[in-house]
Amino acid sequence: MSLTAESHRVALSDGNSIPLLGLGTYSEPKQTPKGACAESVKIAIDVGYRHIDGAFVYRNEHEVGQAIREKIAEGKIKREDIFYCGKPGDVTYPLTADGKFVYHKTDLCATWEAMEACKDAGLTKSIGVSNFNRRQLEMILNKPGLKHRPVSNQVECHPYFSQPKLLEFCRQHEIVIVGYSPLGTSRDETWVNVSSPPLLKDPVLNAIGKKYNKTAAQVALRFSIQRGVVVIPKSFHPERIKENFQIFDFSLTDEDMKEILALNKNVRYVELLMWQDHPEYPFHDEY
Ligand code: NDP
Repeated sequence: MSLTAESHRVALSDGNSIPLLGLGTYSEPKQTPKGACAESVKIAIDVGYRHIDGAFVYRNEHEVGQAIREKIAEGKIKREDIFYCGKPGDVTYPLTADGKFVYHKTDLCATWEAMEACKDAGLTKSIGVSNFNRRQLEMILNKPGLKHRPVSNQVECHPYFSQPKLLEFCRQHEIVIVGYSPLGTSRDETWVNVSSPPLLKDPVLNAIGKKYNKTAAQVALRFSIQRGVVVIPKSFHPERIKENFQIFDFSLTDEDMKEILALNKNVRYVELLMWQDHPEYPFHDEY
């Protein structure tokens, strides 16, 4: 597979395609100045990113929209050039009076049927899932009357959590893995398991980077895209937005890939433990 800055899309099972590199946009709202997200999305589009990952719950989706609209108005891009991944909802995280999460009663199959209806109504081009384990994927794939299969599963994926089994299962079912936290997260202790060491300090990633005059971040991203895993690194800093895009001018050898694969610790940074009592909490299973 030859990947270039201009052409690095992979096919989805519904006939559409997704750029292997996208910009992540989650940033702790209280610590992020207004406008930082819009500014970063505009820089990313100028640099060449054509895939943006957002969500209603990130509380900056309006800024992503504003940035894309501005770049269309400028004539830099057309709407159809941009792959936008959204994750909708109305009320973000409803709580009971004593502070417990109120869980939705709708089951995953019914939710999937609603997503199928969104696709049929032309509200979205492709539909996928996030944080699904194998059992949950099988439940959708085996659902009687399934109309559209999930094209992607957005899950944590990087050299310290490289998901070999889930990746293999997804490959067999033509489900593309979109790897979130591909650089090992922001290490925000309010939601990240920081007992797993910082990915970008890893000696192997840094040593391999040195060989190619690349950073550990670029090596981690290149590793994922060479496995066919889409990456959505988040940065709101112009120099790092650019750095993360400069991964198409070198490639890792089979030996490098093996060495990086051996770094897998099978420990998640993103455990989402606050929802571990939910009947569909996905991470009790091995994968
Ligand atoms: P990432 O692994 O993308 O890491 C982001 C952190 O790395 C930020 O602190 C960023 O800082 C820093 N960074 C970015 N580039 C570099 C670089 N080249 N060198 C050193 N540091 C760098 O973590 P995220 O958890 O944000 O994951 C990416 C995206 O995935 C999210 O933004 C979101 O869109 C999505 N996501 C989805 C989830 C889901 O459940 N579906 C869960 C978690 C994330 P700075 O901005 O200062 O550059």
